[in-house]
Amino acid sequence: MTPSLKIGCFELYWLNGGKFALDGGAMFGVVPKVLWSKKYPCSEDNFVPLTASPILVKSQDAIVLIETGLGNKLTEKQQKIFNVTEQWQVPEDLKKLGLYREDIDFVILTHCDFDHAGGILMKEEDNLTLTFPKAKHIIQKREWEDVKAPNRRSAHTFWPINFEGLQESGQLELVDGEAELCPGIRVIHTGGHNNGHQIVWIEDAGEAALHLADLLPTHAHFNPLWVMAYDNFPLEVISLKEQLEKEGIEKNAWFTFYHDPFMKACRFNEKGEIVQKI
Ligand SMILES: [Zn+2]
Repeated sequence: MTPSLKIGCFELYWLNGGKFALDGGAMFGVVPKVLWSKKYPCSEDNFVPLTASPILVKSQDAIVLIETGLGNKLTEKQQKIFNVTEQWQVPEDLKKLGLYREDIDFVILTHCDFDHAGGILMKEEDNLTLTFPKAKHIIQKREWEDVKAPNRRSAHTFWPINFEGLQESGQLELVDGEAELCPGIRVIHTGGHNNGHQIVWIEDAGEAALHLADLLPTHAHFNPLWVMAYDNFPLEVISLKEQLEKEGIEKNAWFTFYHDPFMKACRFNEKGEIVQKI
Protein backbone atom coordinates (compact mmCIF):
# COMPACT_ATOMS: atom_id res chain seq x y z
CA MET A 1 0.00 0.00 0.00
CA THR A 2 1.44 3.34 -1.00
CA PRO A 3 0.64 6.28 1.25
CA SER A 4 -2.44 8.11 0.15
CA LEU A 5 -1.00 11.37 1.37
CA LYS A 6 2.31 12.72 2.64
CA ILE A 7 2.39 15.63 5.06
CA GLY A 8 6.03 16.45 5.77
CA CYS A 9 7.40 13.42 7.65
CA PHE A 10 3.95 11.84 8.05
CA GLU A 11 2.43 9.18 5.83
CA LEU A 12 -1.36 8.93 5.88
CA TYR A 13 -3.32 5.80 4.94
CA TRP A 14 -7.10 5.32 4.96
CA LEU A 15 -8.19 1.92 6.32
CA ASN A 16 -11.48 0.15 5.74
CA GLY A 17 -13.46 0.48 8.94
CA GLY A 18 -16.71 -0.49 7.24
CA LYS A 19 -19.20 1.04 4.84
CA PHE A 20 -22.77 1.94 5.69
CA ALA A 21 -25.58 4.29 4.71
CA LEU A 22 -27.70 6.80 6.58
CA ASP A 23 -30.78 8.80 5.74
CA GLY A 24 -29.94 11.79 3.55
CA GLY A 25 -32.10 14.08 5.66
CA ALA A 26 -30.17 13.14 8.80
CA MET A 27 -26.84 13.82 7.06
CA PHE A 28 -27.85 17.18 5.57
CA GLY A 29 -30.24 18.50 8.22
CA VAL A 30 -32.40 21.39 7.06
CA VAL A 31 -30.77 21.63 3.62
CA PRO A 32 -33.41 20.82 0.96
CA LYS A 33 -32.79 17.61 -0.94
CA VAL A 34 -32.98 19.44 -4.30
CA LEU A 35 -29.77 21.20 -3.22
CA TRP A 36 -27.75 18.49 -1.45
CA SER A 37 -28.57 15.80 -4.00
CA LYS A 38 -26.68 17.83 -6.62
CA LYS A 39 -23.51 17.38 -4.59
CA TYR A 40 -24.04 13.94 -3.06
CA PRO A 41 -25.87 10.90 -4.45
CA CYS A 42 -28.55 8.91 -2.66
CA SER A 43 -30.45 5.70 -3.27
CA GLU A 44 -34.13 5.53 -4.23
CA ASP A 45 -35.07 5.22 -0.57
CA ASN A 46 -32.98 8.29 0.34
CA PHE A 47 -29.94 6.61 1.89
CA VAL A 48 -26.54 8.21 1.33
CA PRO A 49 -23.43 5.99 1.20
CA LEU A 50 -20.80 6.55 3.89
CA THR A 51 -17.51 5.10 4.99
CA ALA A 52 -16.05 4.80 8.47
CA SER A 53 -12.40 5.07 7.44
CA PRO A 54 -9.82 5.31 10.21
CA ILE A 55 -6.74 7.26 9.18
CA LEU A 56 -3.37 5.77 9.99
CA VAL A 57 -0.69 8.41 10.52
CA LYS A 58 2.82 7.06 10.45
CA SER A 59 6.09 8.76 11.32
CA GLN A 60 9.42 7.85 12.90
CA ASP A 61 8.13 9.02 16.28
CA ALA A 62 4.79 7.30 16.50
CA ILE A 63 2.03 5.35 14.79
CA VAL A 64 -1.32 7.01 15.31
CA LEU A 65 -4.78 5.88 14.34
CA ILE A 66 -7.54 8.47 14.04
CA GLU A 67 -10.92 6.81 14.82
CA THR A 68 -11.50 3.04 14.90
CA GLY A 69 -14.31 2.26 12.44
CA LEU A 70 -17.52 0.28 12.94
CA GLY A 71 -15.78 -2.70 14.57
CA ASN A 72 -16.88 -6.33 14.31
CA LYS A 73 -19.49 -6.40 17.06
CA LEU A 74 -22.59 -5.09 15.29
CA THR A 75 -25.57 -7.43 15.56
CA GLU A 76 -27.43 -8.48 12.44
CA LYS A 77 -30.24 -6.12 13.37
CA GLN A 78 -27.84 -3.18 13.77
CA GLN A 79 -26.19 -3.99 10.45
CA LYS A 80 -29.60 -3.82 8.85
CA ILE A 81 -30.55 -0.55 10.54
CA PHE A 82 -27.30 1.12 9.49
CA ASN A 83 -27.25 -0.50 6.06
CA VAL A 84 -23.77 -1.96 6.49
CA THR A 85 -22.51 -2.89 3.04
CA GLU A 86 -18.86 -3.60 3.87
CA GLN A 87 -17.38 -5.07 7.02
CA TRP A 88 -14.67 -3.60 9.23
CA GLN A 89 -11.24 -4.88 8.22
CA VAL A 90 -8.81 -2.68 10.08
CA PRO A 91 -6.52 -5.49 11.36
CA GLU A 92 -6.28 -6.91 7.83
CA ASP A 93 -5.51 -3.50 6.35
CA LEU A 94 -2.80 -2.93 8.97
CA LYS A 95 -1.19 -6.21 7.95
CA LYS A 96 -1.06 -5.03 4.35
CA LEU A 97 1.09 -2.19 5.68
CA GLY A 98 3.29 -4.61 7.59
CA LEU A 99 1.80 -3.57 10.92
CA TYR A 100 0.12 -5.35 13.79
CA ARG A 101 -2.57 -4.11 16.14
CA GLU A 102 0.08 -3.93 18.88
CA ASP A 103 2.10 -1.41 16.84
CA ILE A 104 -0.38 1.42 17.29
CA ASP A 105 0.90 3.96 19.87
CA PHE A 106 -2.10 6.30 19.96
CA VAL A 107 -5.74 5.95 19.01
CA ILE A 108 -7.47 9.32 18.72
CA LEU A 109 -11.23 9.22 19.18
CA THR A 110 -12.60 12.52 17.93
CA HIS A 111 -15.73 11.54 19.83
CA CYS A 112 -17.39 8.36 21.02
CA ASP A 113 -20.35 7.80 18.67
CA PHE A 114 -20.66 4.13 17.72
CA ASP A 115 -19.44 4.71 14.17
CA HIS A 116 -16.13 6.11 15.49
CA ALA A 117 -15.66 4.05 18.65
CA GLY A 118 -16.94 0.68 17.40
CA GLY A 119 -13.43 -0.64 16.83
CA ILE A 120 -11.94 0.15 20.27
CA LEU A 121 -12.84 -3.39 21.32
CA MET A 122 -13.09 -6.34 18.99
CA LYS A 123 -14.67 -9.74 19.18
CA GLU A 124 -12.09 -12.53 19.03
CA GLU A 125 -13.68 -15.93 19.20
CA ASP A 126 -16.16 -15.21 21.98
CA ASN A 127 -14.12 -12.66 23.89
CA LEU A 128 -13.99 -8.91 23.74
CA THR A 129 -10.43 -7.57 23.66
CA LEU A 130 -8.83 -4.20 23.13
CA THR A 131 -8.13 -4.00 19.41
CA PHE A 132 -5.03 -1.87 19.99
CA PRO A 133 -3.76 -3.15 23.35
CA LYS A 134 -0.66 -0.96 23.52
CA ALA A 135 -2.23 2.26 22.32
CA LYS A 136 -3.12 5.21 24.50
CA HIS A 137 -6.72 6.04 23.63
CA ILE A 138 -7.03 9.81 23.45
CA ILE A 139 -10.46 11.15 24.38
CA GLN A 140 -11.55 14.55 25.68
CA LYS A 141 -12.37 14.56 29.38
CA ARG A 142 -15.83 15.99 28.86
CA GLU A 143 -16.57 13.39 26.18
CA TRP A 144 -15.72 10.63 28.63
CA GLU A 145 -17.96 12.21 31.30
CA ASP A 146 -20.81 12.09 28.79
CA VAL A 147 -20.02 8.49 27.86
CA LYS A 148 -20.25 7.60 31.55
CA ALA A 149 -23.53 9.50 31.98
CA PRO A 150 -25.22 9.79 28.57
CA ASN A 151 -28.34 11.86 28.07
CA ARG A 152 -31.48 10.46 26.45
CA ARG A 153 -30.17 11.22 22.97
CA SER A 154 -26.53 10.21 23.32
CA ALA A 155 -27.48 6.93 25.02
CA HIS A 156 -28.38 5.76 21.52
CA THR A 157 -24.84 6.29 20.24
CA PHE A 158 -22.57 5.84 23.30
CA TRP A 159 -22.83 2.07 23.58
CA PRO A 160 -21.29 0.63 26.77
CA ILE A 161 -20.07 -2.41 24.80
CA ASN A 162 -17.65 -0.11 22.93
CA PHE A 163 -15.85 0.95 26.11
CA GLU A 164 -15.97 -2.13 28.34
CA GLY A 165 -12.75 -2.39 30.31
CA LEU A 166 -11.04 0.50 28.50
CA GLN A 167 -10.58 2.62 31.62
CA GLU A 168 -9.52 -0.37 33.74
CA SER A 169 -6.92 -1.36 31.14
CA GLY A 170 -4.94 1.80 31.86
CA GLN A 171 -4.93 2.60 28.14
CA LEU A 172 -7.38 5.49 28.35
CA GLU A 173 -5.79 8.94 28.31
CA LEU A 174 -8.15 11.83 28.88
CA VAL A 175 -7.16 15.24 27.61
CA ASP A 176 -8.73 18.58 28.42
CA GLY A 177 -8.73 21.12 25.62
CA GLU A 178 -5.57 20.99 23.52
CA ALA A 179 -2.78 18.40 23.60
CA GLU A 180 0.25 17.47 21.49
CA LEU A 181 0.58 13.68 21.29
CA CYS A 182 3.91 13.71 19.52
CA PRO A 183 5.76 16.39 17.54
CA GLY A 184 3.38 17.54 14.79
CA ILE A 185 0.15 15.87 15.93
CA ARG A 186 -2.26 17.93 18.02
CA VAL A 187 -5.81 17.43 19.19
CA ILE A 188 -8.07 20.38 20.02
CA HIS A 189 -11.43 20.30 21.74
CA THR A 190 -14.21 21.90 19.68
CA GLY A 191 -17.61 20.72 20.86
CA GLY A 192 -20.32 21.44 18.29
CA HIS A 193 -21.21 18.00 17.00
CA ASN A 194 -21.37 16.96 20.63
CA ASN A 195 -19.95 18.37 23.86
CA GLY A 196 -16.67 16.49 23.83
CA HIS A 197 -15.85 16.51 20.11
CA GLN A 198 -12.20 17.15 19.18
CA ILE A 199 -10.30 17.69 15.92
CA VAL A 200 -6.77 16.80 14.81
CA TRP A 201 -4.02 18.90 13.24
CA ILE A 202 -1.10 17.14 11.54
CA GLU A 203 1.72 19.52 10.65
CA ASP A 204 5.30 19.24 9.52
CA ALA A 205 7.73 21.14 7.32
CA GLY A 206 5.18 23.76 6.32
CA GLU A 207 2.60 21.17 5.29
CA ALA A 208 -0.64 20.48 7.12
CA ALA A 209 -3.67 18.22 7.32
CA LEU A 210 -6.77 19.08 9.30
CA HIS A 211 -9.15 16.36 10.45
CA LEU A 212 -12.41 18.08 11.34
CA ALA A 213 -14.12 14.73 11.95
CA ASP A 214 -17.89 15.14 12.15
CA LEU A 215 -17.75 18.91 11.75
CA LEU A 216 -16.94 18.16 8.10
CA PRO A 217 -18.08 14.57 7.49
CA THR A 218 -17.86 14.74 3.67
CA HIS A 219 -16.65 17.15 1.00
CA ALA A 220 -20.29 18.11 0.40
CA HIS A 221 -20.56 19.62 3.90
CA PHE A 222 -18.13 22.50 3.26
CA ASN A 223 -20.81 25.22 3.37
CA PRO A 224 -20.81 26.16 7.08
CA LEU A 225 -24.62 26.14 7.06
CA TRP A 226 -24.78 22.56 5.80
CA VAL A 227 -24.79 20.83 9.17
CA MET A 228 -26.13 17.42 10.07
CA ALA A 229 -29.34 16.69 11.95
CA TYR A 230 -27.05 14.61 14.19
CA ASP A 231 -25.26 17.74 15.40
CA ASN A 232 -26.26 18.54 18.96
CA PHE A 233 -25.29 22.22 18.77
CA PRO A 234 -25.81 23.31 15.15
CA LEU A 235 -25.10 27.01 15.70
CA GLU A 236 -21.78 26.09 17.30
CA VAL A 237 -20.94 23.82 14.35
CA ILE A 238 -21.66 26.67 11.94
CA SER A 239 -19.27 29.09 13.65
CA LEU A 240 -16.62 26.39 14.22
CA LYS A 241 -16.67 25.52 10.53
CA GLU A 242 -16.42 29.18 9.52
CA GLN A 243 -13.37 29.62 11.71
CA LEU A 244 -11.60 26.27 11.17
CA GLU A 245 -12.14 26.07 7.42
CA LYS A 246 -10.64 29.56 7.12
CA GLU A 247 -7.66 28.52 9.24
CA GLY A 248 -7.15 25.35 7.17
CA ILE A 249 -7.36 27.21 3.87
CA GLU A 250 -4.86 29.83 5.08
CA LYS A 251 -2.40 27.02 5.83
CA ASN A 252 -3.22 25.33 2.51
CA ALA A 253 -4.06 22.26 4.58
CA TRP A 254 -5.51 19.02 3.33
CA PHE A 255 -8.96 18.46 4.85
CA THR A 256 -9.25 14.75 5.65
CA PHE A 257 -12.54 12.82 5.64
CA TYR A 258 -13.69 9.84 7.66
CA HIS A 259 -17.17 9.39 6.20
CA ASP A 260 -16.70 10.26 2.54
CA PRO A 261 -16.63 7.31 0.09
CA PHE A 262 -15.85 9.67 -2.79
CA MET A 263 -12.87 11.57 -1.39
CA LYS A 264 -10.22 10.79 1.21
CA ALA A 265 -8.98 14.34 1.45
CA CYS A 266 -9.01 17.59 -0.48
CA ARG A 267 -7.79 21.16 -0.55
CA PHE A 268 -10.21 24.07 -0.87
CA ASN A 269 -9.58 27.61 -2.10
CA GLU A 270 -11.07 30.68 -0.35
CA LYS A 271 -14.27 30.31 -2.37
CA GLY A 272 -14.70 26.79 -1.04
CA GLU A 273 -13.94 25.22 -4.41
CA ILE A 274 -12.03 21.95 -4.37
CA VAL A 275 -8.66 22.56 -6.00
CA GLN A 276 -6.95 19.23 -5.27
CA LYS A 277 -8.28 15.87 -4.12
CA ILE A 278 -7.41 12.24 -3.55
ZN1 LIG B 1 -19.54 10.05 12.50
